[in-house]
Amino acid sequence: MEKLLVLTHVDETGAALTKASLEAVAAGVEFAAKLGAGLTIGIVGADCAAAARQVAGAGAKVLTVAGAEFAQARYASDAAACEALVRAAEATIVFAPAGARFARVLPGVAHRLDGVVETHITALAVSEKGLEATRWYYRQRVEAVVLRERRPWLLLLDAGTRECFAGAAGEVATETVAVMLPALRTTVSGVKAPKQDEQTIRPEAKVLFVAGAGWTKKQADGAIHAAEAERLILGFLRGTDASLGSSKSLVDQSGENQEVLKFMTHMNQIGQTGATPRHPKGLSTCCHGEEPHVVGWRFIGERRAVNMDANCGWARGKADVVYVADAFKVMEKVNALLAAKK
Ligand SMILES: Cc1cc2nc3c(=O)[nH]c(=O)nc-3n(C[C@H](O)[C@H](O)[C@H](O)COP(=O)(O)OP(=O)(O)OC[C@H]3O[C@@H](n4cnc5c(N)ncnc54)[C@H](O)[C@@H]3O)c2cc1C
Repeated sequence: MEKLLVLTHVDETGAALTKASLEAVAAGVEFAAKLGAGLTIGIVGADCAAAARQVAGAGAKVLTVAGAEFAQARYASDAAACEALVRAAEATIVFAPAGARFARVLPGVAHRLDGVVETHITALAVSEKGLEATRWYYRQRVEAVVLRERRPWLLLLDAGTRECFAGAAGEVATETVAVMLPALRTTVSGVKAPKQDEQTIRPEAKVLFVAGAGWTKKQADGAIHAAEAERLILGFLRGTDASLGSSKSLVDQSGENQEVLKFMTHMNQIGQTGATPRHPKGLSTCCHGEEPHVVGWRFIGERRAVNMDANCGWARGKADVVYVADAFKVMEKVNALLAAKK
């Protein structure tokens, strides 16, 4: 019989599990039932009491690794914590959220356990052969279904691929797992992160706003209007809390001494050689919609585009709606409507 462990960790507030952890718990509840497996939830954090109450409704055994050393992400302490939890649960299958904290330690943990790890899992299923895990390769062009006989099998589940666990909170008995920590050479002195309104990449946003190279190209009057483009794009982001994506052509311009949008970096690039974000809606502006770009929109629900060219790539079945219009005028009007609404 399989024994399923869900590894989770406490969020920055210290009082709750991360969203991705709760998604992994939901997967654990569903697949423990489908596999007829025993379910254990492992929690890592400075204080795991509040997080444990969150998963009381999962009907699982709850193991915790708690203490000041586990408040912050650190390879040595996180890997030791995860290894100890897998051993204590005698797990044969392990689900973990593929966030920054666990994605970097789980491959090492699998090695320590003489197990095997799968990353970027987007879907799970059970067949007569057992658990099947789905992931994408080659920039979302090839989809593979993976089965393994070797145990323990550790699976990093991509965030945003399922709903969070939403069972009732309550009191639950927990067991503390002791961890033999190695000498810790890394001390976490703090976190430096851009302020929320400077941060343009927002994975949780409902809308992805993509800016293409057209924003910095000569317009009908023969001039480039980069400053106006910046004002319109930032105005929309502030008005909607949308996440900002870009085409490759636009982010490459800074290296080519062309007019650039100062807040745009390669991190914003969507596509074959960029990111593949997951947002319910996407709006593309001044972007042609070529295949290497659009392949990064695979997981975007509703797609709309604004382009002056009625023959652009978006109009060829890649967007649900294409507005053949001047994006400068459209976004000016959209921003005015957003401002009026506020
Ligand atoms: C191996 C490889 C990998 C690649 N990977 C990626 C990738 O990951 N991501 C990516 O994006 N690209 C990628 N590309 C490049 C991709 O093929 C395109 O060159 C790129 O996406 C084009 O960017 P763009 O649409 O912004 O620019 P352009 O092709 O220059 O299009 C600009 C568009 O703006 C429109 N426009 C101009 N002014 C306005 C206005 N006022 N209102 C409305 N519309 C206006 C124009 O009609 C035009 O359609 C890759 C290419 C290769 C070969």
